[in-house]
Amino acid sequence: MSKPDELVFVPLGGVGEIGMNLALYGCGHGKTRQWLAVDMGVAFGKDDLPGVDAVLPDIGFLAAQKKNLAGIAITHAHEDHFGALFDFWPRLQAPVFMSPFAAGLLAAKQAGEPGAPKIPVTVVEQGGRVRAGPFEVEYVPVSHSIPECSSLAIRTPAGLVLHTGDWKLDPTPLIGRPTDEDRFAALGEEGVLALICDSTNAIRDGVSPSEADVAGVMEAMIAKAPHRVVVTTFASNVARLRTVAIAAQKAGREVVVVGRSIHRALAVAGELGYLDGLPPFHDQDAFSQFARNKVVALMTGSQGEPRAALARVAGGGHRAVKLAPGDKVIFSSRSIPGNERSVNAIINALVDRGMEIVTDRDALVHVSGHPRRDELRQMYEWTRPQILVPVHGEALHLHEQAKLGRAAGVPEVIETRNGGMVRLAPGPAERLKDVSSGRLYRDGKLLLDPETAGIADRRRMSFSGAVFVSIVMTARGEVEDDPQIALLGLPLTDGEGETFQTIVEDAVDEAVDNLPKKRRLDAGAVRDIVRRAVRSEIDAVWGKKPPTVVLVTYLEA
Ligand SMILES: [Zn+2]
Ligand SMILES: [Zn+2]
Repeated sequence: MSKPDELVFVPLGGVGEIGMNLALYGCGHGKTRQWLAVDMGVAFGKDDLPGVDAVLPDIGFLAAQKKNLAGIAITHAHEDHFGALFDFWPRLQAPVFMSPFAAGLLAAKQAGEPGAPKIPVTVVEQGGRVRAGPFEVEYVPVSHSIPECSSLAIRTPAGLVLHTGDWKLDPTPLIGRPTDEDRFAALGEEGVLALICDSTNAIRDGVSPSEADVAGVMEAMIAKAPHRVVVTTFASNVARLRTVAIAAQKAGREVVVVGRSIHRALAVAGELGYLDGLPPFHDQDAFSQFARNKVVALMTGSQGEPRAALARVAGGGHRAVKLAPGDKVIFSSRSIPGNERSVNAIINALVDRGMEIVTDRDALVHVSGHPRRDELRQMYEWTRPQILVPVHGEALHLHEQAKLGRAAGVPEVIETRNGGMVRLAPGPAERLKDVSSGRLYRDGKLLLDPETAGIADRRRMSFSGAVFVSIVMTARGEVEDDPQIALLGLPLTDGEGETFQTIVEDAVDEAVDNLPKKRRLDAGAVRDIVRRAVRSEIDAVWGKKPPTVVLVTYLEA
């Protein structure tokens, strides 16, 4: 008899952090083991990573298995789930599966990004199934904060795994299909070996409010607003865009769209029928034509993005949209961790200009798309998994869901992290040896290894600038001409009014003078002594040691 198939789960991203989700399922043995990748997302750069646009999982492990990669299944079109496809697909070249809405957004993104690879996509309707090697993948509808989000029921010769992706229980999601309770219960009947489950809100009690609750609040708020209303939200939250359009219509107002990503999402949503029955959306140039109490603007920039529409409106520099004191700006969103400071800067700028601000601290103008504790318990009840593996969360979220699962009676609960391979079958679930994992930085046109990306130097320079010194010597060790000095990001003068230019010049001269002639023929010795002297002089007057580069050149004899 042949050995029973082994089934393993390996997260390469998204487990131990929020963002850059990438999970692998492996079925079989050794070199012939077949792989299915679920999602391929990014996380966004933060203030401590200057110049980094996005953080991506390191797919070295997967790329080495490329010939055994049967497919890439995308659960939904949020950037933390599909934002790395353009970066990685050319290296992997496997079949890609996603919903019509996700495929539409991917095509729109591709059209807007010169050089983006054209990825052949197999479109899967919600409820549909596709086969990839030994995996049969069923797209089970769930509510979330974007249309057409699915959990994946993955059938393998070694058992059925349910990868929830992002989900919540919302019986009234306003567009698309709600979480398919009957289907989850039926999967429970069939027998779920393992539930790989969203942990984002595992520290929150109860049940998340519905998108319909937000609609009620928004309608009342827009109806009562005396002047203009601006609503900023995530472009892909089509239900929210729809809510705003309906609220505006009920209040006798026109809707103006400001920002490319909302236009893009509306174009894709419109093609799929999600905007049926809504009045037309106007372009930003129409904004100034409507009376102050007859307009609602839908605007990008809820995360404080400096180039998005809202930031320019807040600064008073938007070409088409000018606000006046008393106009209302509703943040129908939540700040993604790391963006709070930029969002607050925009809120403060708007307050300074006399706008009325509403955020989710003031009213129910936003709901999360992730399950709270009662919803998680409900999912365990429907699906009755043998094994629970919490994913999509920071350490605390993962651990809280693990405790919740144990308390709910799930027989085996396994906590893992990026790179931590878990055997799901056969036999009891077990954490095996880690595979190589890590992260990459997307920086301009490059994908960089954090070790060699130069970020530490950028951080140091952002703190204390940089000093460059060039010294030219004769072949006999005499200094030829004055050293050249360039300072970047240093203050002009010290506390006594002495310029840093002079301070550095003096330090260089003295250091070279003090060096015996013979030692001056050793470029390394000159470099070290000058560098040390410059840094210590600057430190004496400023209290900081900027990175210092010394170049030494010798003339031919
Ligand atoms: Zn999502
Ligand atoms: Zn997510």
